[in-house]
Amino acid sequence: MKLQEYRSKEILARHGVPIVAGRTATTPEEAREAATEIGGPVVVKAQVLVGGRGKAGGVKLASTPEEAEGRAREIIGLDIKGTTVRTVLVAPAATIAQEYYLALILDRAARAVTVIASAEGGVEIEETARTNPEAILRLRLDPLIGLQEHQVRRVAFFLDLPAELRRDFATLMRGLNDAFFGSDADLAEINPMVVTDDGKLLALDAKIVLDESALPRHPDLEAMRDLNEEEPSEIAAREAGISFIKLDGTIGCMVNGAGLAMATMDLVKLAGGEPANFLDIGGGAKADRVAAAFRIILDDPNVKAILINIFGGITRGDEVARGIVEARSQLTRDVPMVVRIVGTNSEEAKRILAEANLITADSLDDAAAKAVEASRVGTAA
Ligand code: GDP
Ligand code: MN
Repeated sequence: MKLQEYRSKEILARHGVPIVAGRTATTPEEAREAATEIGGPVVVKAQVLVGGRGKAGGVKLASTPEEAEGRAREIIGLDIKGTTVRTVLVAPAATIAQEYYLALILDRAARAVTVIASAEGGVEIEETARTNPEAILRLRLDPLIGLQEHQVRRVAFFLDLPAELRRDFATLMRGLNDAFFGSDADLAEINPMVVTDDGKLLALDAKIVLDESALPRHPDLEAMRDLNEEEPSEIAAREAGISFIKLDGTIGCMVNGAGLAMATMDLVKLAGGEPANFLDIGGGAKADRVAAAFRIILDDPNVKAILINIFGGITRGDEVARGIVEARSQLTRDVPMVVRIVGTNSEEAKRILAEANLITADSLDDAAAKAVEASRVGTAA
């Protein structure tokens, strides 16, 4: 789960990372009030979960409250990479002498939490990685020992930070480390970290990505979820206990098991189709969850056919088949459905499905081919 900048900064601040606290506003008038309260020049920043807000016109300086109101009027409602800005952060403007990049990331390839640092801050790190990879330092943390003092010093030297700021940097780096581990994050990024004209170290922008699976341990962080920025279908799926990711294709997939769901998507592609989603209804799914899955899939107007692929182990095939038939009768929109149920009681399942006029398939290849074909017929009609 990605957190907005102001939320990320809140977490960093709790762990002692220096930030300039600001206020959020959802109207230009509120932005003016915030600027008045702050006094002096401010920066008005779009709170959206995408990078490159600066380039897209989502970060603007203002020297007076009136100007802040004007900038907020320009930014609120702005479309940045497909997201409409609803909230801005108004914060005291910093005067920047130098920008740096600093992050902790769970690097799955390295199987370690890794520090990433660069003196080329402000720009996206992917860009630096492409154009100037030697400007990036990567340091793996020992999974048992964690961040060590010599590593902190090494980062400070690599960044060529002024000697008098090394202590402050150590505090910041520790804070970033504590925020990362304390919130079970996958990423905690400060870009830019800056040295100001008056020689202070600050986190000017922050981005924290949390591990969804660890969120039950952090109700306070779960409360930071921004529902405005999530697909409504993904919210509904989470509430129904279904793993779901929306994609852009036309074939809705309903599968039990994440591995089988991925294999199913691969075979849809192989058959010349495009999956509309990843969906895992989980083990032992009953009729109500099947019904919820149908609603979520059909909520996507792009879906022209549904491929249902169930492996019955403990889950009984006939029960799932009855669930499918029952749920289907309650749907407001209908599309061709191809069902493959194998495993426990699959013969009984087949009989139930055939009686309900559902297309059945024995093999997954066959099922994928039939679903792709059905989706094309649906489109032509
Ligand atoms: P991003 O573009 O989404 O990463 O948003 P950032 O918060 O990183 O802002 C982009 C750029 O705007 C930064 O790299 C800075 O150069 C500039 N910026 C942001 N905040 C301030 C500020 O308080 N003062 C000044 N002078 N520049 C700022
Ligand atoms: Mn940034």
